[in-house]
Amino acid sequence: MSKSFLKRLFQAYYHENIDKMVKPNSFQHREFGFIPWDKEIMIRHVGFNKLKNLKNFLITNVPQHVYSSGSLYEMPNNSQMSNKGYIGCDLIIDIDVDHFFTPCKKDHDLWICKECNEYGYGMISKCSKCGSAKIDTLNWICDNCLEIAKNEILRLIYNFLMPDFAINQDEMKVAFSGHRGYHLKVENEKIRSLSSDERRDLADYLTGHNISFQVLGLKKIGYNIYGLMKENLGWSQKIVLEIEKILKTYSDSQIHNLMDGFGLNENVITSFLNSKNLFLNTINNPNNNIWNVEGFGIKNWEVFLEGIVDLIGIKIDEPVTIDIHRLIRYPNSLHGKTGFKVIEMPISELRYYNPLNTEEKSLDPMVFYSASNTLKIKITSLEVPQTIIKGETFGPYKKGDIVEVPNHIAVFLLAKEVAVVN
Ligand SMILES: [Zn+2]
Ligand SMILES: [Zn+2]
Repeated sequence: MSKSFLKRLFQAYYHENIDKMVKPNSFQHREFGFIPWDKEIMIRHVGFNKLKNLKNFLITNVPQHVYSSGSLYEMPNNSQMSNKGYIGCDLIIDIDVDHFFTPCKKDHDLWICKECNEYGYGMISKCSKCGSAKIDTLNWICDNCLEIAKNEILRLIYNFLMPDFAINQDEMKVAFSGHRGYHLKVENEKIRSLSSDERRDLADYLTGHNISFQVLGLKKIGYNIYGLMKENLGWSQKIVLEIEKILKTYSDSQIHNLMDGFGLNENVITSFLNSKNLFLNTINNPNNNIWNVEGFGIKNWEVFLEGIVDLIGIKIDEPVTIDIHRLIRYPNSLHGKTGFKVIEMPISELRYYNPLNTEEKSLDPMVFYSASNTLKIKITSLEVPQTIIKGETFGPYKKGDIVEVPNHIAVFLLAKEVAVVN
């Protein structure tokens, strides 16, 4: 019943806004995918010659989710991947808080064990009571999580893609996914032609996985250890700048905790803190990269640098970046699990953007917003975390609660499948 209710709302949305559907470049070479309301399967291998045909499809079929490919094909509607006539693939980088730790998940991400019904909050891989890995999760939207995801995208753009790959601002488009993250699409001829292996290398570069400190210059010659140079662009510079920032802005006890977290022992940490100022001078001297600190052999330096790399590496969803057959949400379509609009925007809009509270109409995902219309719904999920949208707080709720909430909140809770129309 909730689904047919949502489908009717989606239909009204597509009907009223169909002229606002955008046409990405190489439109006729993109593969489309749809998930209908009645079954959770992806209908893919669909192609459209004209935007008009996509529009008709959306109004007639009203899908729950709409996707299009990063890849370009001669025949996107051929059902065999190998017969589609692959041309190339835009780089798509997905940054979604589902895939990494954020501190506030302990307040808003619920898990329920399928084996023993134990439940709790936070990001876990196994039930804390029976150890089963069969876990249902209820992940919630949150300003703070979205801010963390946004900052990862900004670092990705300004600290990696622009300086290290010479990608221009106007070759990148960023989109709020309609739920817990962002994706970035890079439309650049050189990148478009990368093979899967090259995409894997690129993903490794962005995350810092498999980094070789020897290649970056870490080596022992005689009694001296030679470290990385700030003057060497790319990872060397990123690492040295991060170390410099930490040494200049952290207290000794913060540095101690950080190094402890890296897995370095007490003596080594004390020795490092004693040489802190000397080491700061060294990394700021372009003529000196001798990193002799008592207790630090190559091994300990590697542990230390590995820890620093973890801080800097971008938390991308690697499979999405590597997979050339992936589909991504279509701009201005609706996310069927939230009722929010997928918002594509120029990079310049991103820095101050908050999808859950924006004044800018064209960037507002809350298409069902209403200040006056309300709807009565009944909570069906064990617990529903607090939802904060446009500065207003709703919930938390418990199973069985009957609440009257504004239209857009009702749509969100129904789409999240934690409530039904009462
Ligand atoms: Zn359990
Ligand atoms: Zn959060």
